[in-house]
Amino acid sequence: MSCGICSVHRDSEQLEALEIWRSERWLLRHHPLPAPLSGWCLLDSRRHLGGPADFWPEEAREWGLIVQRASQLVKQVSGCDRVYVIAFGEGARHLHLHLIPRFGSDPLTQAWCVADLYRKVERGQRPGADPDLFRSWMTGAREVADALMAGTPNSVER
Ligand SMILES: [Zn+2]
Repeated sequence: MSCGICSVHRDSEQLEALEIWRSERWLLRHHPLPAPLSGWCLLDSRRHLGGPADFWPEEAREWGLIVQRASQLVKQVSGCDRVYVIAFGEGARHLHLHLIPRFGSDPLTQAWCVADLYRKVERGQRPGADPDLFRSWMTGAREVADALMAGTPNSVER
């Protein structure tokens, strides 16, 4: 079975640039470059599962807190107004929750417009997030991740 998310989790070189935080069951990472926006993150289950319908009881218990803290992290580091959370599980049948910064001042980040932005960047019709902005975003995220995610179960050191 080949799964894009499982492959990323095994690729420590790729993860090194993108990983923000992990615990026994979850991994928070930035969207690979080119990213549609700086701060566009993905919250993955570390176990290969399709979505919340497949959760084991302990995953179901942790999910709310993990999604809350990861959303707070995106909001705090991005300075955005809100954070969208979307999971299709279509590109890979492995839960990867998109956490998307929504800026009230930027209509490109509004509701389904953000899907248009995503596709344009994916097709190379628009440039992705600026790499310098991405790097400074990552630095900021890693500085606050341990404190913000503290108290979530089974946090492990990177
Ligand atoms: Zn997988």
